[in-house]
Amino acid sequence: MKVVKEIRAFQQISEFYKCSGKSVALVPTMGFLHEGHISLMQKAKAENDILIVSIFVNPTQFGKGEDFDKYPRDIIRDFHICEKAGADYIFNPEVSEMYGEKSFTKVSVSNVTEKLEGDFRPGHFDGVATVVTKLLNITAPRKFYLGQKDAQQNAVLKRMIRDLNIDTELIVCETIREQNGLAKSSRNTFLTHEQKQKASALYFILNEGKRLILEEKISDADFIYDYASEILKEKAPEFELQYYKITDNYFLDEIKDLSLYNGEILISLACKAGSTRLIDNIIFLK
Ligand code: AMP
Repeated sequence: MKVVKEIRAFQQISEFYKCSGKSVALVPTMGFLHEGHISLMQKAKAENDILIVSIFVNPTQFGKGEDFDKYPRDIIRDFHICEKAGADYIFNPEVSEMYGEKSFTKVSVSNVTEKLEGDFRPGHFDGVATVVTKLLNITAPRKFYLGQKDAQQNAVLKRMIRDLNIDTELIVCETIREQNGLAKSSRNTFLTHEQKQKASALYFILNEGKRLILEEKISDADFIYDYASEILKEKAPEFELQYYKITDNYFLDEIKDLSLYNGEILISLACKAGSTRLIDNIIFLK
C-alpha cells in the first residue's frame, strides 16, 4: 500500500491505471476510520482491481463554529485499517496541497442542497461538492463508494455527476450500525457511554416511521413527526431533534400526504446529543 500526499504524483498514478484498463475504485473519507468505512473498502476492493482510499478532513465543508479543529484524527491507525482492508493507495494530502493556491472556483449544486442539512449547515454541500470534484479529478475512479448514512450527500453528488457529466459511477452501500442500532460514525467517539445507549432511539424512531407508513397505513407526515419526537422525548429527553423529515429520495422534497405517494421514501433526521450532532436515515419502498 502506498501513501501519496501530492496531487501531481497521484494524477500520474491515475493516468497509468487509465491506460492499463484496470478498474479503479475510490472510497473518499475524512479518516478516523470505523466498520462503516471498512465495509465500503471491502465492497470496492471486491468489485475492482485497484482500491484508493482518500483521507482528508476537508475544512471547506465545516461551517464557522463547527468541529473542524476537534474532528477526530488518527492517521497511523487509519493506515493500518486501510492496509488490512486491501487498499492499494491512500491519498492523504495536507490542506495546503489541496487549497494552497488561491482558489476562485467552487462547485455548487442547487435544489437538493437547500433542504434537510442545508437548513442547518449553510455552504456545507458547496464544500463537499467541490472537494469531491477535486478528488475525482485527481484519482479518476471508474466507481466511487459512499455510505447510505449520508443520504443527502449522495443525492447531491449523484446530481453533480449527472449535471457535469463526470465519468464515474456512484455506488451507495448500506449503513453499518452498532448492535443497538446507532449508525457508526467517527463523531460517536465524542459520545458518553450513556449518550451512546440513548442514541439507539434514533434508529428506533426511523423504523417506527417506516412501520407507521407501511403497516399502520398512516398518511399524515405531521402525525408521524409528532409520534417520533414524543418517543425520542421519552427515551432521550436531553437530545435535541433538529429535523425528522419524510421525503422522496431524489429531489428530497417533503411528502406531507403519503396516501398520494408511491416510490422510494427517505426518512432522515439530525439530532444533537450534547454538543455532538448525529444524522441518520432509512430508505424503503412504498
Ligand atoms: P466520513 O469519513 O464520515 O466523511 O465518511 C466517508 C464515507 O463513509 C461516506 O460516504 C459515508 O457515508 C460513509 N460512512 C460513514 N459512516 C458509515 C456507516 N456507518 N456505514 C456505512 N458508510 C458510512
